[in-house]
Amino acid sequence: LVVLDNVNKWFGDLHVLQDIDVTINRGEVVVVIGPSGSGKSTLCRAINRLETIDKGSISLDGTPLPEEGKELAKLRAEVGMVFQSFNLFAHKTILENVTLGPMKVRKKDKAAAEKRAKELLDRVGIGHQAAKYPAQLSGGQQQRVAIARALAMDPKVMLFDEPTSALDPEMIKEVLDVMVDLAEQGMTMVVVTHEMGFARTAAHRVLFMADGAIVEENTPEEFFTNPQSDRAKDFLGKIL
Ligand code: ATP
Ligand code: MG
Repeated sequence: LVVLDNVNKWFGDLHVLQDIDVTINRGEVVVVIGPSGSGKSTLCRAINRLETIDKGSISLDGTPLPEEGKELAKLRAEVGMVFQSFNLFAHKTILENVTLGPMKVRKKDKAAAEKRAKELLDRVGIGHQAAKYPAQLSGGQQQRVAIARALAMDPKVMLFDEPTSALDPEMIKEVLDVMVDLAEQGMTMVVVTHEMGFARTAAHRVLFMADGAIVEENTPEEFFTNPQSDRAKDFLGKIL
């Protein structure tokens, strides 16, 4: 579904993505882990073209990522993204946060957008809070709204960049539960996270990145119990 072919990117002298070749299949859940600064966020941002790449190509569903304009807005809708900071619109209600994109980009009428938004908010456990503003919700609740908002666009793939790392421990599980649920329903997902429980439960594949390259790629079982590279052994020694 998502194909990265020899993707390279530099920030000045820094070779932040080095010869990345990855194919993400439909329905697959891929967890990306690696040390700080290894390029995980840049990789995610390249997939929905928040970052340009300097060499190589990325395609979604057989079509190269568009450069600009309407096609780019459409791509952003098809590639849902959830960030560490929830990035909700502070001056819009929860319901409006979820209906805005579908009405603007997908040209849904208000009634249809609201119906779908309510279903999604119910699904992430926020249905009864639809009239509130983001600041009235906890971090975990806001992050679940952010997930519902991305899902409202009917994305082909969902990208999560450390979605729980800004949350208090008791809120992490409620967000991970929503993500596990989504994975079980067959959503194609790329998840940057150090939550090993999630990786073991939901991931089909783990990519380990270091210094802009994919150093190791394996099933979670194999990766966690039997890492091959010294970089991965060293990293796992620090976080487990
Ligand atoms: P973390 O775990 O801390 O989130 P990461 O693996 O997501 O790290 P990236 O954010 O992708 O890492 O950054 C990779 C490298 O690129 C880092 O060295 C970072 O400082 C650098 N970098 C990221 N964005 C830019 C930018 N806009 N301009 C210059 N350098 C950047
Ligand atoms: Mg990052």
